[in-house]
Amino acid sequence: MSYTIVQNFIPRLPKEAYDAGNYVGVIAHSTANNGDSAEGERNYESTTWQNAFVHFFVDDLKIEQVADTDYLCYGAGHTANHMGYAQVELCQTTDATKFAKAYAMYTWLLAKLLYNRKLSVVDGVTLMSHAHVSAKWKETDHTDPIDYLASHGKTWANLVADVTASYNEMEVNDLKLQTLILYSGDADLQIAADLAQHFSCPIVQAVYATADLLSSVTTKYQVGGSSAPAGVTLLAGADRFATMKAVLKSLGEI
Ligand SMILES: [Zn+2]
Repeated sequence: MSYTIVQNFIPRLPKEAYDAGNYVGVIAHSTANNGDSAEGERNYESTTWQNAFVHFFVDDLKIEQVADTDYLCYGAGHTANHMGYAQVELCQTTDATKFAKAYAMYTWLLAKLLYNRKLSVVDGVTLMSHAHVSAKWKETDHTDPIDYLASHGKTWANLVADVTASYNEMEVNDLKLQTLILYSGDADLQIAADLAQHFSCPIVQAVYATADLLSSVTTKYQVGGSSAPAGVTLLAGADRFATMKAVLKSLGEI
């Protein structure tokens, strides 16, 4: 599952660097404003950002990014903001169906922000609620989004599990897309499978490798055969053992 992030930055926001240079985690908020929308929150924030602003709003219809995550926002108190964290507000609704849609995008976005910087999902460290931030640094007294999640039967532990599942899915999809192993014929299958295991990537017989598939993958090898499609590195020899040798050589093992 993947969603589109609609960028609509609020003009004239400050461009202050995080202490660490990049954000070190994400903070999950909820707006405490039932029936609001991402657009409405953005409009409100565009006149009040001096007091507070976050990077994203999520409602049941879209993910709207209102501030650049390269710079800190003012969403959760001085220490957390500066350290700093990418911050996401979940718009609130009493409608269960709308909640489910928004919640799916919200957890996906939290995972995506962590995954973009390979921060892993660490409850209370890289993935924080505003409640965590208030308890840890005591600069704010907000406890969102805990009560709002509870109003729809979700716990913080549910959210952590859902963000983790999303993060893992992104990792697996990426691995698959980074590398692909083709093999020429049945005699090449075993060594191709071993190579694929080495890269944690899929294998496909060369005759089934469509142009679409090949164009979606960065690194491609073909095991065996006398020629490979454009952009695919051919690892082959005169016989099975020579092919095996070519594969091992490519890995720098001999
Ligand atoms: Zn908050």
